[in-house]
Amino acid sequence: MKQIKVVKFGGSSLADANQFKKVAGIVKADPDRRFVVASAPGKRFSEDTKITDMLYSCYEVAAKGGDFEGQFAAIESRYNSIIKDLGLNVSLDKEFVQIKNGFIGRAGRDYAASRGEYLNGKLLAAYLGFEFIDPAGYIFFNESGVFDLEKTTAVLSEKLAKTEYAVIPGFYGSMPNDTIKTFSRGGSDVTGSIVARAANASIYENWTDVSGFLICDPRIVENPEGITTITYRELRELSYMGAGVLHEDAIFPVRTAGIPINIKNTNAPEDAGTMIVADAGDTPCKYTITGIAGKKGFSAINIEKDMMNSEMGFVRKVLEVLEDNKVNLEHIPSGIDTMSIIVNSASIQGKEEKIIKMIQEEVAPDHIDIEHNIALIAVVGRGMRKLRGTSGRIFSALAHAHVNVKMIDQGSSELNVIVGVAEEDFVTATKAVYDMFVLTAE
Ligand code: ASP
Repeated sequence: MKQIKVVKFGGSSLADANQFKKVAGIVKADPDRRFVVASAPGKRFSEDTKITDMLYSCYEVAAKGGDFEGQFAAIESRYNSIIKDLGLNVSLDKEFVQIKNGFIGRAGRDYAASRGEYLNGKLLAAYLGFEFIDPAGYIFFNESGVFDLEKTTAVLSEKLAKTEYAVIPGFYGSMPNDTIKTFSRGGSDVTGSIVARAANASIYENWTDVSGFLICDPRIVENPEGITTITYRELRELSYMGAGVLHEDAIFPVRTAGIPINIKNTNAPEDAGTMIVADAGDTPCKYTITGIAGKKGFSAINIEKDMMNSEMGFVRKVLEVLEDNKVNLEHIPSGIDTMSIIVNSASIQGKEEKIIKMIQEEVAPDHIDIEHNIALIAVVGRGMRKLRGTSGRIFSALAHAHVNVKMIDQGSSELNVIVGVAEEDFVTATKAVYDMFVLTAE
């Protein structure tokens, strides 16, 4: 049976004619690459503006009844230069007029933003000689604006089964009343995943401008190694802690269908990139850890009370105070007579005194304080399950680097260890863990 590959190209991969050429080269190199999901043109250089952002600001002016001609002309000119530089025999003039009328008629912010993908999809379809499929008729949201996987998969699968090669713009679909709705920013990743599922693809290739995930943030460790294989669960842990490349919601549709995602680099197609799989099976892990990610901006509410552990309902009462104040908690490291609650600092801002007072009233602690400027570092890896002493090695790496560990929490899945350190130690701590597990790995 022939394989079907769904390929999604991000904004930087389709930012200008030169990038379009690379994309066509990649698509045409493999006849299995049948369904292509396109983003809107992104930045051509670092100070450039993405078409999506240009559309949002242009629509804002239009919606207030202002003169948006100049801004709209700048958008038109981005597409026209792609047409010209590729020597394409197509015109988007009719579409431009329709879109302008949509702006004047207040067709909505989502409609406006979605036109970036719509127009780029048209161009890419013409350039590749593929059919153009407008997701407005195939990707559906329900009345509450929640993506409807069931309906979409049913309708889209039927369409794709009858289609040999097609380009599908990313980022949007339609509401039951036929208005356009977009996913959140970066949502073409989600479209790619939906299309891969509906096509029953053997793989979802997500082409971007980096060669996959790196073990660590390159702003912290110079030239970190890339991750070859990562499981969906590991990725979830790392993304939660701030390692971004892929939209979080892009995982769900393919994950349940068991379709792997391969993150690839349009500018270096020969690089293997990162393979995201449901189960890495027996694939050996190169290192004990798969990745390290971290975030600053946490606070610890530290509570002490003698005999706390024998007082029924102590933790519940404290947590209820947080619930009443709508504060999410991240971790609760505890001792016999102490507990700390790690929370996002922003979530307690302006409520600190009230929270302390309420906890005092509820459980009468001997001592309570709030400590700020804490960073959390997640050390993630399926390889940790099989090996003993990983936490010990993390501790020893941090001790050698003179980093004081404020908290350590091992997830019950034994897939991750979270360490809390002072924000000023964040970089040193991350480097120390990387050195221990990657640079000096045996
Ligand atoms: N163009 C949209 C954005 O900039 C969606 C995407 O590129 O995935 O967010």
